[in-house]
Amino acid sequence: MTVKLYLENLEFGYYRRFDATVQSVEDEHVVLDRTLFYPLGGGQHWDTGVLQGPNGDIQVSEVRGRNDVVHTVGANHQLEAGDEIRGIIDWDKRYAHMRMHTAQHLISGLAYELFDGVRTVGNQIHADRSRIDFNPISFDEEKISILLESTNNHIDQALEVTDAIMTRDAINAIMPADRTNMDLLPASVLELRIIQIGDRVDMCPCAGTHVSNIAELGHVEFLGKKSKGKGTQRFSYQLNQTTSPRSAIETVL
Ligand SMILES: [Zn+2]
Repeated sequence: MTVKLYLENLEFGYYRRFDATVQSVEDEHVVLDRTLFYPLGGGQHWDTGVLQGPNGDIQVSEVRGRNDVVHTVGANHQLEAGDEIRGIIDWDKRYAHMRMHTAQHLISGLAYELFDGVRTVGNQIHADRSRIDFNPISFDEEKISILLESTNNHIDQALEVTDAIMTRDAINAIMPADRTNMDLLPASVLELRIIQIGDRVDMCPCAGTHVSNIAELGHVEFLGKKSKGKGTQRFSYQLNQTTSPRSAIETVL
C-alpha cells in the first residue's frame, strides 16, 4: 500500500517534492512506497509531473489506484524496484485542482441550504473548469444568481478550511447524513477525514486536496447548466483569478 502524503494533512497539499523508493514496475506502471501524486478519485483529476530517477527525468502522465498508487510513465523509463526517486508534481495543475475542489464543497454545501436539501450526486474536478451534478433541482436564472451570490459572499469572508479525522457517529451528530453523503458510505467505514469550511459552513468527508482558506478560490463564475435526466442538472463553473494565492512549499517530503 502506497503512503499517500497529500492525505497526511491539509497543508501537505501545498508540497510538490518528495523522495520515494520504487516498489514495483510493470511495463509503464510504477508503484512507489510513498507519493504526493494524487490518483484519479472522488471526482478529482490526477496530478502530473516528473519522477527523477537514476537515468534522468520521467514524465508522469496518469495516476490511478486506491491502495497501490500506480504512476503511468513513458515506455523507456528504465526504473527498477529499489530505485530511489524524487517526485515533483506540476504545481499549477495541483493548485487549480485544490481551488476547484474546495469551491465544489462550498457550492454543494450552500446549495443544500438554499434549495431544500438538494443533493450533490456527482462532480468532476478539472484544472480549467469543473462541474457538479445536483438532484433534484431545476435551475433558473434566479436560483443560479442566488447560489453565485452566496458562494462569492462566503469567499469574500476569507474563511479557513481545516481537516480532521472524525468518527461516523460524530459527523452524523453534526450534519444531516444526506448532506454529507454519509448515508452512501459502506457501514464498515467508521472513521473519516473531514474537510470543514469556516465554522461548519460545510463539512464533508473527502480524500481530495484542498486550499487552506477560501480567499484562495477567487470568485466562482457560472459557465452553464445541462439536464442529465430524472431531476438531475449539471452546474459548470470556473474560477476567477484569486487576489490571495499561496505558493507551493518547496521543501522535500
Ligand atoms: Zn471532496
